[in-house]
Amino acid sequence: MRFEVSTQGRGDFIDLTEPVAAAVKRSGVKEGVATVFVSASTAAVTTMEFEKGLMSDLRALFERLAPAAGDYEHHQRWGDRNGAAHMLAAIIGPSVSVPVVDGVLNLGTWQQIVLIDLDEGPRSRQIEIAVCRSN
Ligand code: ZN
Repeated sequence: MRFEVSTQGRGDFIDLTEPVAAAVKRSGVKEGVATVFVSASTAAVTTMEFEKGLMSDLRALFERLAPAAGDYEHHQRWGDRNGAAHMLAAIIGPSVSVPVVDGVLNLGTWQQIVLIDLDEGPRSRQIEIAVCRSN
């Protein structure tokens, strides 16, 4: 299943748990795995508690790890300004896989599936969800 998400960029967090849970339900899979993937090199998918304080803390961490105004070789090669976004997306990764147990995502109580858009401004992101049955 594929769908589009509109984001604001610059550390925008989007909770994908509900659409992924709906895809699992529609699939009819009882035991297996759900993989969520963003087709982009400046956005990432992870799991975290979807909570504003943590989002703020993570934005501060991103800025310490890779300052947005930093000077990166990517900027010189391509003439753009999103080198920090590319690096953070590479570190966090584009996907997560979550076990499906008894027909539902086996997430922790405070664990959501979250898209993080790291690019400079609003984007439209394509999300792919694949639900596979285990034998
Ligand atoms: Zn770039």
